[in-house]
Amino acid sequence: MRKANYSNRTRSLSIVRNDIRFFIIAIAIFLSTATHAQDVIQSKQYPKNQFRYPLDLPPATAGSFGELRPNHFHSGLDFRTMQRVGFPVHAAYDGYVSRVRIQFGGFGQALYITHPNGFTTVYGHINDFTPEIDKYIRDYQYKNQTFEADIALPPGVFKVQKGDVVAISGNQGASGGPHLHFEIRDTLTQETINPQLFGLTIPDSKPPAITAIGIYHLNGNPFSEKTPKEFLAVTGANGNYHLLKPQVLNISGNTGFGISATDINDASPNHNGIYSLELKLDGVTMYTFAVERFAFDQTHAINAYIDYPAFLTARRFMQKCFILPGSRISLYPQSINRGIMAFNDDKLHEVQYIVKDVAGNTSTLTLKVQSNTSAANIAPDKPTGTLLHYDRKNEFANDRVKVTIMPGNLYDDLDFQYATLPAKTGAYSVTHAIHNKLTPVHDSYDLWIKPDINLGANAEKAVIVNAATGAISSTWEGGWVKGVARAFGDYYIKIDTVPPVITPINIRNGSNMKLLKAIKLRMSDNLSGIKSYAGKIDGKWVLVVWDYKTKVLSYTFDDSIAAGKHTFEFTVTDAKNNVSTFKAEFNR
Ligand SMILES: [Zn+2]
Repeated sequence: MRKANYSNRTRSLSIVRNDIRFFIIAIAIFLSTATHAQDVIQSKQYPKNQFRYPLDLPPATAGSFGELRPNHFHSGLDFRTMQRVGFPVHAAYDGYVSRVRIQFGGFGQALYITHPNGFTTVYGHINDFTPEIDKYIRDYQYKNQTFEADIALPPGVFKVQKGDVVAISGNQGASGGPHLHFEIRDTLTQETINPQLFGLTIPDSKPPAITAIGIYHLNGNPFSEKTPKEFLAVTGANGNYHLLKPQVLNISGNTGFGISATDINDASPNHNGIYSLELKLDGVTMYTFAVERFAFDQTHAINAYIDYPAFLTARRFMQKCFILPGSRISLYPQSINRGIMAFNDDKLHEVQYIVKDVAGNTSTLTLKVQSNTSAANIAPDKPTGTLLHYDRKNEFANDRVKVTIMPGNLYDDLDFQYATLPAKTGAYSVTHAIHNKLTPVHDSYDLWIKPDINLGANAEKAVIVNAATGAISSTWEGGWVKGVARAFGDYYIKIDTVPPVITPINIRNGSNMKLLKAIKLRMSDNLSGIKSYAGKIDGKWVLVVWDYKTKVLSYTFDDSIAAGKHTFEFTVTDAKNNVSTFKAEFNR
């Protein structure tokens, strides 16, 4: 049954294969681009002479577009800034500032410029905007009494010309070191596009490096942590790779392949991501992958692209060269039978990997495969739990737990397993084992748990806890606690009646703060997490900045605080509405 389904769910471009006109057009495109250094898979051409580099430094990358990161494909280029902050950031092209964003994590501070050519550029982790934009944001923060801000700007407020300094590079937000995160997006769809396809090239004469391959014996079953697999070491150099142990592989039945590969260029020692992958069986292209462009709401599909169990258990990025049917990310331009190959004819076959970087440098690896008829037709496994379907709404329920998964949140059919485990100390329910964490969820699903112990007056304080990662967003609804779960795993109910903790760093009642630049403090919460905070001086809201790396909160004094006695008040609220307040008088 599954085999039949698989063969129908192909993403092949076979409709164009017999079209002679297609070949003529393809040849024409090939000839017109043959003079360019790039010869890479892409669905369309992008303007090559419009955008400039955003920095006046020799272009070098600490991260490439589409590079593999935990839970997402990297959405831009990370330009190196010599391990320092403070470099001028230039508008890549004419346009206007269309959005500014201040976040606790993420890009920290980001600037968006919309251009008349249909694209929007994004500059992330910046330290400062221009003084005019800084003032605009600060006015917004005071007016709306918020540190985090996401402000859309109409044309005409801040116009820029190509080359104008629009920001200063930094290390804000969830950044692992000073650099500039740079994106080019399609303004209409907000899809992010590989900036190196716009002529913003990085010197690169080195082909990708292949370190291992994976073989997955799918045999008509959905991919899971139970899929029998082997990883084989690879060696080679200068684009020519082979198995460390030369051999003819004996593989039978429906099989998927995988590869571990990275890329280096001439500008820095960093190992970045590859651009494209092609897998051929006896000369026929079975699968392609290329990091040309993708939509942000699909970026979690990296967990369908990589061998997710291998990543979770060994932090290993094995890139699968077969497509899970529920993955909707636009990185697979062409495939036959989702890249899954059937070996069942006793003949010798050749499987070839072609790996490219965005400059077109190519590495290849060829495998010899000998199949075995008698071993090829093993029946697929029968589900032992509840069979969930990737393309439908799925519901699982008993008298104490309910799971609802909307379509689009599973990447493949799933033999869903459920069990109960003994209650943990202080829990208001047994522990519900909702499958296991090795199968990824694209976005989220609804999880209801019924308390086993009466919550009494504390029902509104109940929260669902993931045993591995902590509390999830939860509400009390008709006798159940309802949570928004982003992973499978072990879940139970707890009660959060404990307010957050505020720890002042340099202020206490009666402090003399005449010589200090800022008031500093920290905050933490034991369970449900911090929902909001606010600082006030003499009853008026003031901007308290929360630094992602140090976790320090700070209010920087400005001219509005005159010499004399003042009152500082800081309030924190957690997700279950427990409130803490710190109050101190100080002299300025
Ligand atoms: Zn980045």
